Amino acid sequence: MEHYNTEQKIQEFIANIEAKNPNEPEFLQAVKEVANTVIPFIATHKEYDGMKLLERMAEPERTIIFRVPWVDDAGEIQVNRGFRIQMNSAIGPYKGGIRFHPTVNLSVLKFLAFEQTFKNSLTTLPMGGGKGGSDFDPQGKSNMEVMRFCQAFMTEMCKYIGPETDVPAGDIGVGAREIGYLFGQYKKIRNEFTGVLTGKGLAYGGSLIRPEATGYGVVYFCEQMLKTIGQEVKGKTFAVSGFGNVAWGVVKKVNELGGKVVTISGPDGYVYDEDGISGEKVDYLLQLRASGNNRAEDFAKKFPSAKFYAGKRPWSVKCDVAIPAATQNELFLEDAQTLVANGVICVTEAANMPSTLDAINYFLDNKVLFSPGKASNAGGVATSGLEMTQNSIRLNWSSEEVDARLKEIMIGIHKACRDYGTEEDGYVNYVKGANIAGFVKVAEAMLAQGVV
Ligand code: GLU
Repeated sequence: MEHYNTEQKIQEFIANIEAKNPNEPEFLQAVKEVANTVIPFIATHKEYDGMKLLERMAEPERTIIFRVPWVDDAGEIQVNRGFRIQMNSAIGPYKGGIRFHPTVNLSVLKFLAFEQTFKNSLTTLPMGGGKGGSDFDPQGKSNMEVMRFCQAFMTEMCKYIGPETDVPAGDIGVGAREIGYLFGQYKKIRNEFTGVLTGKGLAYGGSLIRPEATGYGVVYFCEQMLKTIGQEVKGKTFAVSGFGNVAWGVVKKVNELGGKVVTISGPDGYVYDEDGISGEKVDYLLQLRASGNNRAEDFAKKFPSAKFYAGKRPWSVKCDVAIPAATQNELFLEDAQTLVANGVICVTEAANMPSTLDAINYFLDNKVLFSPGKASNAGGVATSGLEMTQNSIRLNWSSEEVDARLKEIMIGIHKACRDYGTEEDGYVNYVKGANIAGFVKVAEAMLAQGVV
């Protein structure tokens, strides 16, 4: 009876979210994953039951949608759409990245903002959840076009953000260059130099280790996961997807800890290199990206041991550990089946929601170590939190200090997942652990602050 009631509550909750947010499949996917694990927890905790906490968390506090008009190099007027989702400010100012990519829409940004709330809570730092972006595609644009776009975007967004209100950062398509232009425009309009953005350059308030932080954090988390079964990174084979900052940080840290990365991927396909992607290959990856090139094929051309597979993802490659580090929904049920058949022991998500719900369930059913991005990729935003601290105290910490804090935070998140996610047979369900641990802090703050 008890079970039936909880199941029914989940179904009713999902039906309501579905009805309120039609045509938002990514948002619904992210909410479902949380509802399946958090609603049973709420049902057994009287202080939370009936307070509509998850219902409130699934409704953004504020959604801002705006026009971004700008002029391209040919003198033609372009019109993009800008967004900022201010999801939840119960535990701190809204915090989360800005994504510039043609696939950006309300559904994608709401899923990201929803996950960000739980992720930021897991870091233990005082940051609420937010996300923003535009359907603008920086690929193939000149520097000056990117600058004019960023200025136009910030001219509107600056009305809604601030160091105590909402602190955006980078995400896909928004790196050091874009953050620089966005910061410059904010400073010009508001006439104030503040830590309103993170991921800033070192010359104007950025933090050491921030570029590497997401990837490093993922590998620190993976190290902890492997430790639970008496294993380590050293000697393991890793399949990594993605070609951006996150993948780069992952590859660097896996190499440092003695693992071997055999794949990376771009939008055009993946590269398999049985000798391992290390040394000058890692530098070349960075070099290609800096020149605005994210084609895996161009990477493969440079090294004889690297083979390029057009239009495919790397999940058919035999590996011990898989790290999806590209984007949402890049690992499907059939990929999960192939990975498990090939003996994968650990899947550590580095992107946000890279695995579909049925892929996740397949890993969990097969008792593979599996961590959701909101836990294992939290090192990026955690280091953004450390950048905010350094800005507030007007000091810069050394790489060693930032890295040590990052590692400590990742170990803490892993422990929180274990505390809330360990099942009767000892298997750690990191999805359940991350969702419940992330929920509890936000829920406590919301209860304390009343119905607002
Ligand atoms: N976009 C990153 C994320 O998905 C980082 C956000 C931030 O640093 O605020 O967590």
